[in-house]
Amino acid sequence: MVALSLAPYAAHESTSLGRRHPEPPPSMRGQFQRDRDRIIHCAAFRRLEYKTQVFINHEGDLYRTRLTHSLEVAQIARGSARALNLNEDLTEAIALAHDLGHTPFGHAGQDALNRVMKSFGGFEHNLQSLRVVDELEEKYADFDGLNLCFETREGILKHCSKDVAKTLGKLGERFLRGKQPSLEAQLTNLADEIAYNNHDIDDGLRAGLIKMEQLKELPIFGEAYEEVLHIHPSLSLRRTVHEVIRRMIHRLVTDLVETSLAHIGEIMPKDCDAVRDHPVPLIGFSPNMRNNNLALKRFLHAHLYRHHRVRELTEDAQRVVSDLFEAYQGSPDKLPLDTRDKLMKTKDKSKSARIIADYIAGMTDRYAYSEHARIYAHHHA
Ligand code: MG
Repeated sequence: MVALSLAPYAAHESTSLGRRHPEPPPSMRGQFQRDRDRIIHCAAFRRLEYKTQVFINHEGDLYRTRLTHSLEVAQIARGSARALNLNEDLTEAIALAHDLGHTPFGHAGQDALNRVMKSFGGFEHNLQSLRVVDELEEKYADFDGLNLCFETREGILKHCSKDVAKTLGKLGERFLRGKQPSLEAQLTNLADEIAYNNHDIDDGLRAGLIKMEQLKELPIFGEAYEEVLHIHPSLSLRRTVHEVIRRMIHRLVTDLVETSLAHIGEIMPKDCDAVRDHPVPLIGFSPNMRNNNLALKRFLHAHLYRHHRVRELTEDAQRVVSDLFEAYQGSPDKLPLDTRDKLMKTKDKSKSARIIADYIAGMTDRYAYSEHARIYAHHHA
């Protein structure tokens, strides 16, 4: 049920561009709630629990996985959506679905799959998230995928090449015409950044790969750290880290909401379409906070994602993904029956490669490892 305070520039169900396959409206919930519910009940959502965010799943039980990351994004996005009188149900649906297309082993897995798919159209996790909800989930009698509303699909598709955009009909239009998605989509995109920048710092510190001393050099971290130290001079390290991170998230979210409200106030878009037609996004940080956010991102790229211990694991993961692709392409009999059936129905090399890529992309970390062990143990026997 939609909040009474929903702003005119929010995405309203009454003006939704609807579903690809028409369905009777839900009786006790809204259309975007139905989307959220379909996402939570799909197989790709459950697999997020066993997919790497930065740390390979089996490294420890406390690190973020794709699932807990998606829940944190939904929390930040919903809180901000409520403060902005945007559609919270739509925001939540987009947040929970945004990473459904991620391969096992995080970005390492996607890079490896993209490399082996190079001559077959490549592989991109964001586009794959859309493929999961549009085509790959096999749950309903009347259609492939989850048949989600246009607005949810619009929010899932964050970026897209012009060539691909041309194949996506109405959904691809904004990439060809330089338009924007809904405010809910814009918001969830930045909530994703706030979530991963902060939780990766937490996980990186926990793993001992980055140090407080380094982080204190970053203005947003340094200021929050000084504040915590001043109020609680003898706090344990673990609590200090959390007190610093909650302050950073609070500052980023507050700035995002205040800056976005000011942008919206200047334009006063009369509806969601006016938001889409505006030449630039209306959801954003102030220049100062944008720099803070960028500094966090750069720090993590330099010191965590490229840390040799993270890289050793990602190199290993890339080998697993490439090996699997090669093995299935060379001997399709190693694939499960339903995937093999799909493969039999096409003679087109790109389509065959895509079927294999879809299968690998759907794997959890541990399933990919066990498949690799099964296939290669057999090979060398
Ligand atoms: Mg994400």
